Amino acid sequence: MDIQQLNFTYPGLDTPSLRGINLRIAPGERVAIIGRSGSGKSTLARLIMGLHTPTEGQILLDGLDLRQIDVADLRSQIGYVSHDMPLLAGSLRDNLTLGAHYVSDERMLEVAQLTGAHELARQHPLGFDRPVGERGQLLSGGQRQMVLMARALLLDPPILLFDEPTSALDNSTEDTLRQHLKAWANGKTLLLITHRMSMLSLVERLVVLDHGRVVADGPKAAVIEALRKGHIGQASV
Ligand code: ATP
Ligand code: MG
Repeated sequence: MDIQQLNFTYPGLDTPSLRGINLRIAPGERVAIIGRSGSGKSTLARLIMGLHTPTEGQILLDGLDLRQIDVADLRSQIGYVSHDMPLLAGSLRDNLTLGAHYVSDERMLEVAQLTGAHELARQHPLGFDRPVGERGQLLSGGQRQMVLMARALLLDPPILLFDEPTSALDNSTEDTLRQHLKAWANGKTLLLITHRMSMLSLVERLVVLDHGRVVADGPKAAVIEALRKGHIGQASV
């Protein structure tokens, strides 16, 4: 993935939320994107998913501008989970497969087991047909995250883009998921947005955003050291 001179301003706003972002991410690389609240992390993720169009600059995937890639293709390339993503008011199954009817029950069960979402089916007489409620309100925040992560893994995409995937999980569930994630991400490109130090064990490279700019980018240990010494603005995990 190659992000070039990316600027983005939300419609109706004066201040850009992303400024001059340049990032090249090699296949198989594991990168965390950190930075304070409002620094632009989720905005960057949404641009990578084609949910917003760059104001200036471009994002290339395998040399192709995102704008040339079909939304369905993008979904099979990038497994995306975001902290502000609601579930649909359907069944657990609908939410795991998102209407991808060609997906086998075995595959659905497999990914549900990977994230622990299968427990939600086991606990309910309707199993995978249990309703999740409007925006998934019948589930807890952590349970919704398990469903979203299972969905992201369903099509076995080469890239995982996880925006705060564990923000609503308790420590022990997060520990378990982190170990699983290490295995799932094996051989894949991982872009992980997180405020949790513990999650950084999954990556080798750290990118720090501050006020919509990249203020640091490099090997994890070097960036953490620079943050500790206060060499990188006010950005923090
Ligand atoms: P957090 O760690 O709290 O999730 P973040 O780094 O993900 O923060 P973003 O959500 O990308 O931050 O927000 C970056 C900037 O863009 C903020 O100033 C925010 O107010 C603004 N912003 C985010 N979403 C929108 C939106 N839908 N419309 C207008 N402005 C937005
Ligand atoms: Mg965010």
